Amino acid sequence: MLWASGGGKAEQIIFAQFRELLTKVPLLYFILFANSVAVAYTHYGTAPDYLTVYFMVFLSVACLLRALKWHSFRTQTFDLKQAKYQIKMTVLFSVLMGIGFSMWSFTLYKYGDIALRSHVAFYMSVTVIGIIVCLIHIPAAVWSTTITVGIPFVLFFGTSGEPVFVAIAINFSMVASLLVLIALSYYRAFSSVIEAKLDLQLQHEQTQKLNIENEFLANQDGLTKLANRRSFSKYLHKKLNEHATSPSFIVGFVDLDGFKPVNDIHGHAAGDRVLVEVSKRLTRVLTGDCMIARIGGDEFALVIDHSASESKIKELGKEITQALQVPFTMRTGLVQISASCGFAIYPEAGDTVDELMDRADFALYEAKAEARGSSVIFSNKHRRLIKRKSKIELALNQSVNNTELSINYQPIVNGKTGEIKGLEALARWHNPMLGQVSPSDFIAIAEKIGTIGDITLHLFEKAVCDLKKWPPHLYLSFNLSTHDVMNNNTLLKLKRIIDNHEVPSGRIQFEVTETTMMNDLDHSSKITKTLREQGFMIALDDFGSGYSSLSYIHKLDFDNLKIDRSFIDHLLQDQRSQRVLKTILELCSNFEVSCTVEGVETEEQKDLLLALGCIQMQGYYFSRPAPIEQISLSKNDEDVALANNTA
Ligand code: C2E
Ligand code: CA
Ligand code: CA
Repeated sequence: MLWASGGGKAEQIIFAQFRELLTKVPLLYFILFANSVAVAYTHYGTAPDYLTVYFMVFLSVACLLRALKWHSFRTQTFDLKQAKYQIKMTVLFSVLMGIGFSMWSFTLYKYGDIALRSHVAFYMSVTVIGIIVCLIHIPAAVWSTTITVGIPFVLFFGTSGEPVFVAIAINFSMVASLLVLIALSYYRAFSSVIEAKLDLQLQHEQTQKLNIENEFLANQDGLTKLANRRSFSKYLHKKLNEHATSPSFIVGFVDLDGFKPVNDIHGHAAGDRVLVEVSKRLTRVLTGDCMIARIGGDEFALVIDHSASESKIKELGKEITQALQVPFTMRTGLVQISASCGFAIYPEAGDTVDELMDRADFALYEAKAEARGSSVIFSNKHRRLIKRKSKIELALNQSVNNTELSINYQPIVNGKTGEIKGLEALARWHNPMLGQVSPSDFIAIAEKIGTIGDITLHLFEKAVCDLKKWPPHLYLSFNLSTHDVMNNNTLLKLKRIIDNHEVPSGRIQFEVTETTMMNDLDHSSKITKTLREQGFMIALDDFGSGYSSLSYIHKLDFDNLKIDRSFIDHLLQDQRSQRVLKTILELCSNFEVSCTVEGVETEEQKDLLLALGCIQMQGYYFSRPAPIEQISLSKNDEDVALANNTA
């Protein structure tokens, strides 16, 4: 066996030569032995015994030993040095044996008649040719054989004076020269084949290396160096296949809240740095048997390789969200984001990769809806929710019967006087199978399946028809979904509706949520600007429920800031909330935009808000959303707005 991996081209040629010799050298000794036996046999009795018998015995033993030695090499391991040494020895032997045999042949020549002498000439020429053929891969051996046997042969017989031998010598010299030339060009071809083979091998190795690198890159997220979505799902597949050894594990999704504005405000390079830092913080928190991956822009996923109690999972979720709430220091300033987590436990939540990922995702969105920065574990409650959502989806897909859709209105009032300023239209859907479906549920699903546009247009037409009957000082506040804002066609149709009804655009306010604006700041800013140019008013809805970042407010074009009701939940007890609210009110006054506080439920809240300088309010304290017939719209009636608060 030959060790032949690695090394350059020259080394590989040596190994290849050695490999060839392994089969050729025993053959060479056989030719030598057979030819010599024939000559010794014909000269037996004519030439002295030491030349025929003893020399032949010596020769046979020598040939046998060499042949056996080379045969045994086949099972041995040779390094470069040893292979080189054996080749060198072969050349040396070919020189020594060449000299020895030439001398033996010339000595025998003296004893024979013409026939025996011819045999010697034949023996020498055939043996030389045989040896050259056997050693064709070693140019040095070809040359040494030619020099030590071929040339003496030509000189010896060429000068013998016997015309036949002279002719044989000439003939031989021509054939031998040709053979040497063939041997040399064969060697060149032989070495270039070896070189080509080596090149091929190198190419193959490089391709393999590239394949490994590609495989690695294909499974890695280039930015954070975490696993990517592909390798995450591969890992989950593997885990499910080996579930016998891992009876329970946890799949978690982590989504950053408020990451999009980081890109928009601080630039993409800062966004990238935040993502890298997030990956580092996750790695620090999630030590032990845990696989972390980045599966989307600002979405991370993890697999915890063991079971854990719900309280432990919640604790982990808290650790993750707390770690990501710590502000990130950027060159452009501090960046504050938060994160929500959703967990799905195998096998309770599901037993396929898709199921587990969907359920962790579902839990994540529930967490986001609950409160940013919270964690939710997928449970039976969510299973029921999914069922209800799929029923809603089915019903929406079968097209909502327009008679099923109606509008309730909630007054937007002057908190000081109770005077109604405008009315917010809130969709109501009563389905015979599903009963009353909340807009918080069906609007999102209608967005997902693409039927929101029709619903919006239908509701808007209804609302505009109602508006026409209202006193002229009242405006209609109408909610637009993200999909509506992104869809130029819907926006054009909205405009067409008010044109058809000849309602001035100044009496309509479109409410666009903070989340919609942040979804694509550039595009939504353009849209709201255009709508304002057309005369509509724009309200930034649910401010404080999402990113709550004051830093981008100056970038947006709007007339009214609607502060989310979650903001005033703790207003009475919390001095800090009061200071924040005061700052927001001052900011609105500086930007000359009005401000409405939503969700005012008690007189105390109203009084505190008035004391803080907030005038415009909305909430159950003044009126619950109700069908328009139940709302008194008379301007002079002081108590109109309060009329519905008990409804
Ligand atoms: P929103 O635009 O923030 O509407 C205010 C929600 O708060 C309404 O819920 C309203 O009934 C409720 N609300 C008002 N005052 C109070 C209060 O004092 N206390 C409490 N606890 N709640 C109060 P509703 O009608 O269930 O609507 C939920 C959400 O659905 C809306 O939130 C809005 O985002 C969306 N929505 C409703 N109608 C439409 C619509 O026609 N189109 C679109 N795109 N979205 C709509
Ligand atoms: Ca609204
Ligand atoms: Ca709102």
